[in-house]
Amino acid sequence: MKGMVLDAKWEPKPDYTVSEWEKKTGKAITGNAIWHNPTLEVKDWPDPTPGPKEVLLQIQACGVCGSDMHFYETDDQNYILYPGLTKFPTILGHEFSGKVKEVGKEVTQLKVGDMVTVEEMIWCGRCKPCRNGYPNHCTNLEEIGFTIPGAFANYIAVDEKFCWKIDAIAERFGSEEMAYAVGALTEPSCVAYNAMFTRAGGFKPGHYVNVVGAGPIGLASIGLAKAAGAGIIVAFEVSAQRRELAKAVGADFVYDPREVVGSEVMMDLSKGEGFDFHVEAAGVPELAIPEMEKALAINSKIVQIGRAAQRVPMYLESFQVRRAQAFGAQGHSGHENFPNVIRLVASGRLDLSPIITAHYDLAQTVDAIAKSVERTDGKIMVHPN
Ligand SMILES: [Zn+2]
Ligand SMILES: [Zn+2]
Repeated sequence: MKGMVLDAKWEPKPDYTVSEWEKKTGKAITGNAIWHNPTLEVKDWPDPTPGPKEVLLQIQACGVCGSDMHFYETDDQNYILYPGLTKFPTILGHEFSGKVKEVGKEVTQLKVGDMVTVEEMIWCGRCKPCRNGYPNHCTNLEEIGFTIPGAFANYIAVDEKFCWKIDAIAERFGSEEMAYAVGALTEPSCVAYNAMFTRAGGFKPGHYVNVVGAGPIGLASIGLAKAAGAGIIVAFEVSAQRRELAKAVGADFVYDPREVVGSEVMMDLSKGEGFDFHVEAAGVPELAIPEMEKALAINSKIVQIGRAAQRVPMYLESFQVRRAQAFGAQGHSGHENFPNVIRLVASGRLDLSPIITAHYDLAQTVDAIAKSVERTDGKIMVHPN
């Protein structure tokens, strides 16, 4: 089969101490400190064969994620920008859906022809965090498209326990093609759902919600806030195209954060009461959190989803006076996240289909990532088959 393979040289930066675990596993914990001179190319890769508990999926759609861009983009020494867990060479792509082509002997939940989307985090189920119910914090994690072959490819073999059926989405859209494309948005939507509802406990209908950043995760956050009955949704986003998408999925007010003072906007819109629920989905907490902090409603929550290796000044007196809380969240697995997001999409209450702004073939995957790097599109979809 063909797949879009990232290869890079294992050349740790001089100031980075490679751990024994990294040497043993060949996995970099801090990708940016180890992987040098990356190349991206669509090329031949061995066909996967499903193990006894696995299904073979023919991949129908795979979205380009911010982390894929951070493999394409490099720092001034030509190391990948992506800071996380990685092992190369491998096939990229982790937001996907596909059709079951073959099932292993011990597969019981799926059959040939089923339409599914898949978790990206291959949690072990055996480590202490997994056994305690926190799969997003698995200590033996493998990640599809980061440490093991991903879905910018014709096929993938994956344990059935990571698959979720999307037939209900096909019924809603009346088309398999749409179901696969929208189904591939489930993973990023679950990142937003996990942070806002599972981790931070959500908000009350009527509450005012602020979303900073309208990339795919921010757009999913806006859609979810609308589905959950937010009173007002305000979004801050630098790209004009993305501001339009934010409106299309439910934002009532959208602003370019370079042209306004976020806290003033929120205090105005709330007539001085402040906003109840704040989502950071831009990866610029050092800019976003101080504005949120000046617009905290009593009992408000701040949820950090964007990733940024940045310290952020926080004035905790505001959190005391406003009875506020801040939550950190990562991942998308467990906690009913996948089934509940699929239900919302199937019911029509969460419709993120407008955020898909471009479609590419597998052969053009590198171009698709290059286009994403412009950061004006919503979600770019690759259709490998
Ligand atoms: Zn992603
Ligand atoms: Zn685990």
